Amino acid sequence: MTSKEFNPFEMAQAQFDKVAEILNLEEGTKELLRFPLREFQFSIPIKMDDGQTKVFRGFRVQHNDARGPSKGGIRFHPQETVDTVRALSMWMTWKCAVVNIPLGGGKGGVVCDPHNLSMKEQEQICSGWVRQMVKNVGPVNDIPAPDVMTSAQHMLWMLDEFEAITGGKYPGFITGKPVGMGGSLGRTEATGYGVIFTVREALKELGIRPEDTTASVQGFGNVAQYAIKLYNQLGGKVICVSSWDQEDQTSYSFRNLSGVKVDELLKITDRFGGINKEKAKELGYEVLDGEAWIEQEVDILLPCAMENQIREDNAPKISDKVKIIAEGANGPTTPEADKIIVEKGIFMIPDFLANAGGVTCSYFEQVQCNMNYYWEKDEVLGKLDVKMTSAFLAVSDLAKKKKLYMRDAAYVISVNRVAQACKDRGWA
Ligand code: NAD
Repeated sequence: MTSKEFNPFEMAQAQFDKVAEILNLEEGTKELLRFPLREFQFSIPIKMDDGQTKVFRGFRVQHNDARGPSKGGIRFHPQETVDTVRALSMWMTWKCAVVNIPLGGGKGGVVCDPHNLSMKEQEQICSGWVRQMVKNVGPVNDIPAPDVMTSAQHMLWMLDEFEAITGGKYPGFITGKPVGMGGSLGRTEATGYGVIFTVREALKELGIRPEDTTASVQGFGNVAQYAIKLYNQLGGKVICVSSWDQEDQTSYSFRNLSGVKVDELLKITDRFGGINKEKAKELGYEVLDGEAWIEQEVDILLPCAMENQIREDNAPKISDKVKIIAEGANGPTTPEADKIIVEKGIFMIPDFLANAGGVTCSYFEQVQCNMNYYWEKDEVLGKLDVKMTSAFLAVSDLAKKKKLYMRDAAYVISVNRVAQACKDRGWA
């Protein structure tokens, strides 16, 4: 979880500052892109099941919309802060730009813990969030999506409230909806699969066959589950996964040297991606401490949980065998840990490139909603592969040509595109 001293927005700004210097950005452009264009903070009063009123804090931050409407998820998390939302909205701007889709960056959240809320209470939080934001979100200005602890159901509740208020049918208002209710086939798989499309390309570059590799994964939610599935299909073996234990308020790693089996683990995993440790032991998994995933002797590390997970204190524990880190999560690696990763010579696939499959497929969902014509799953995933692969190749080509760290190369491409759009519009 996010520690007290860790501030994700400061980290996002530090990453940006480094690239602004490489690009020699003008002062005005730098100032414009260092901060969000717009921020909303509000209260959402809810009538709880026991009859009491409880007030939840909600956020929406629109970092930059020079290239198109803002786009980004809504996270439900007890440790949500405005700075987390600011950082995530900034990363969304770079993410949409690196895969070259015509969208800007936004992000939202509510400080709450869905573990302790009934579905009815969560439905009220969703409609309350929309009532507060209705004037400033919509298919042509800001399109929300799911994130940590929000699902297709939450998106449908939000859409329903939006349509009730505005009096029309606007499936393009929100993405990540259930299939059959305006959702796109392939959206559930998109982020995890996208991570592995980039890993596949990185392995090609390094001349390694996927079937000769092993991996260790942090998280066992939407991103991790589908990343593991596709990686297994390519022939790779995951030997360790970790997840958050709500009861113990800590995380555990689950190791099986003969290979983690997703379907078997899914049977003992709650809807928040928490694996039951007693049942995992019965299935023959070693239950290790939460950080053990990072110390495994594997070829690939896949952080797919939260931000601030690979830091100065634990990055030295990364095995010398590790060749690739692909960041499924947003902001899992701090700038201090990046330096250690560079020294270790590990090939980094940075978050806003590795996990851009989700927003790319959300964009496809919006396109399908606007056409009112829905594609087959193979078509969606094929288009996703093309987008992810060409974004990866553009970043790795630049990294090689200019001898840049992959994160910096991805930033150079994104920041350049966004800065140019701001310039073309006369904003800077
Ligand atoms: P999720 O809620 O489905 O799963 C989160 C997983 O992380 C759960 O298994 C949980 O137990 C685990 N976890 C939480 N804290 C942990 C900790 N300290 N140690 C170990 N495990 C921990 O969320 P998700 O949708 O899979 O998202 C995961 C990450 O990927 C987030 O950073 C999110 O912003 C990012 N992301 C998600 C998408 C998407 O489409 N879902 C797209 C882009 C980026």
